[in-house]
Amino acid sequence: MKRVIVIGGGVAGMQTALRLADDGCDPLILEKEGELGGKLRDWYVLFPTFTPASEVLAELKGRVIRRGIEVRTSAEVAAFTPHSVTLAGGETLACDAVVVATGFTLFDARIKEEYGYGIYDNVVTSADLERMFAEGRVAKSDGSRPRRIAFLHCVGSRDEKVCQSHCSRVCCITGVKQAMEMKRLFPEADVFNFYMDIRMFGPGYEEMYREAQQRCNIHFVRGRISEASPTIDGRIQIKAEDTLTGRPLKMSVDMLVLLVGMRANDSNARFAAQSGVERSPSGFLAPKSLFLDGVRSTAEGIFYAGTVTAPKSVGECVCEGYAAADAAAEYVKER
Ligand SMILES: Cc1cc2nc3c(=O)[nH]c(=O)nc-3n(C[C@H](O)[C@H](O)[C@H](O)COP(=O)(O)OP(=O)(O)OC[C@H]3O[C@@H](n4cnc5c(N)ncnc54)[C@H](O)[C@@H]3O)c2cc1C
Ligand code: SF4
Repeated sequence: MKRVIVIGGGVAGMQTALRLADDGCDPLILEKEGELGGKLRDWYVLFPTFTPASEVLAELKGRVIRRGIEVRTSAEVAAFTPHSVTLAGGETLACDAVVVATGFTLFDARIKEEYGYGIYDNVVTSADLERMFAEGRVAKSDGSRPRRIAFLHCVGSRDEKVCQSHCSRVCCITGVKQAMEMKRLFPEADVFNFYMDIRMFGPGYEEMYREAQQRCNIHFVRGRISEASPTIDGRIQIKAEDTLTGRPLKMSVDMLVLLVGMRANDSNARFAAQSGVERSPSGFLAPKSLFLDGVRSTAEGIFYAGTVTAPKSVGECVCEGYAAADAAAEYVKER
């Protein structure tokens, strides 16, 4: 049987391995962390249905286990060619093809110093908030209930100053999902979303956005927060411009949530230099063609699945898992 190594055990990698097994190949998942799951291990409920992320992960992991797919965790890949994969410890594994499903990196909000993340209390990222939801400990740092909450869109995306020009796609809908979740926990609170544009690209997303406005009374303000600073009474003062009215705006809030973007992994540069695959200007790995070969790389025998090529939702990553596996299976059978 042909061995195909899947690098990365997030949703994309797991679905790729499952489909490879269906296609008659012998998949091996190499995951650098101690367990499978990728970023979903840190998310609470998923847009657009509020389905617990743990439920989706348990189902996918269960399928991987029941199918008897070989998995090696704590196995970080340092380099690969179509016919071999080298682990960080130096061990080399032979294979017939490789599917790269190494995902993305969260933008580090500390780089946008003007928002005070890591400096002021009660400035958190969307990723922090997911963990707080999951652990049932959403509150101000002094334990009290927030009365006014602001979400800021496009932190570390669509921002040339931090070399991240691309749109991360999922943060607008994440902002809607999290604002609704906050309103459920704190019905008495005023919730504001500051955005540049609202991008609701997926099925059910626009409906969720309308529900957020009409049923939950969440306020959407077109404008970007220029800076945040602490007040003496422990709140955060934000300065923004309402770009619809052209008016500057100052507001004190109890919590500021930064909707951090998805950026390309630093390892993509190394992988591109070593294995001959290409990167797009945003640093994500570039598929052979955006139209007909979205899961093929520019090098023979190397395939892609999931967010390693661009920001995507879970459903999109899973679909790419099927496509990448089929493309890899077709390739190895022809040899
Ligand atoms: C704040 C936030 C909230 C989100 N909420 C939702 C939501 O509600 N609904 C939704 O549909 N989508 C959501 N998303 C998007 C979702 O997280 C992604 O679609 C999904 O995680 C991508 O899966 P992936 O397998 O491509 O990558 P990842 O989840 O990043 O998995 C990649 C895996 O590869 C491993 N890896 C990386 N490098 C190596 C290496 N060198 N060797 C071995 N292993 C390696 C990593 O450890 C990781 O396990 C959200 C994103 C963000 C930022
Ligand atoms: S999805 Fe929305 S918040 Fe995210 S980068 Fe694009 S426009 Fe900004």
